[in-house]
Amino acid sequence: MQPMYSRSAFSRRHFLASAAAFSGAAGWLSGTASDAAEPKPFSFVFFTDPHVQPEKGATEGVKQAFAKVNALEQRPDFVITGGDLIMDALNVGMDRVQLQWDLWDECQKTLEVPIHHTVGNHDVTGWSSKAIVKPGDSGYGKAIFSERYGQGKTYRSFDHGGWHFVILDSIGQDPVTLDYKGWIDDDQLAWLKADLEKTGTQTPVILVTHIPFYSVWHQVLKGPAFPLDGKALVGNVFEFRKLLALYNIKLVLSGHGHISERIQFDKVVYLQGGAVCGMWWKGPVHGNPEGFVQIDCHPDGSFQDRYISYGWKARA
Ligand SMILES: [Zn+2]
Repeated sequence: MQPMYSRSAFSRRHFLASAAAFSGAAGWLSGTASDAAEPKPFSFVFFTDPHVQPEKGATEGVKQAFAKVNALEQRPDFVITGGDLIMDALNVGMDRVQLQWDLWDECQKTLEVPIHHTVGNHDVTGWSSKAIVKPGDSGYGKAIFSERYGQGKTYRSFDHGGWHFVILDSIGQDPVTLDYKGWIDDDQLAWLKADLEKTGTQTPVILVTHIPFYSVWHQVLKGPAFPLDGKALVGNVFEFRKLLALYNIKLVLSGHGHISERIQFDKVVYLQGGAVCGMWWKGPVHGNPEGFVQIDCHPDGSFQDRYISYGWKARA
């Protein structure tokens, strides 16, 4: 198959549409018809919390991280972002929102493989009690993300190499304060139920959610009784975990905490993928450097993950 994009000239819509088409059930990067019947191992990159902004060299940092992805010895078939692509759209004016998205586009153009996006809280315009952009204003909420980066949606799924990938939208909104909260809404859960039914109980599944389902780092660093608010974790996982348990979920990828954390409970690994921006471009997070995760998937449903630093040095 010919390369599905040109590095210098592609529209984002075309690029993403191609990425999706390319990731069909028989979607090998350089596959043939016979390959489709016999899945081979493949690799992808989970690239979360880049938080691009004009300050602190962040744009160069994201490009440096993409250059590292482009140069990986084992070339990934695609990248999945874990959200919070930009520093913040919650509490800034529309000019600043647009500036950050333009910087993101400038960075993304340098990536040489397809990319799929997950929405993060900081990618949502104005969902904050301190918002400058208000309900009813143009670009409020998830409109920019879904149009430019989500193929018109904020959640979706695709198949690749015998695996099923589900990109979730974990950003809910408190109806009173208008702040974001970790939540998968009912419409999405109905879609997820149907999507998993269609996938069946044998296919290995990877879920991607910006806000984690579970996390332990607060308890490690702040004590066992430290209370988590509704922004730290997805609040209704407890209600839909029984649905997930019916299927062959192997891995739940998340971002949000900027922590590199790996929890295994029963047969599922919950991996929080560190952060491309580290501590908001101010340095490593508890000793973990700025980086991303590469994951190798095998046809038998096994996988390996490794955290990869791209060698960023924080600027003053
Ligand atoms: Zn976040």
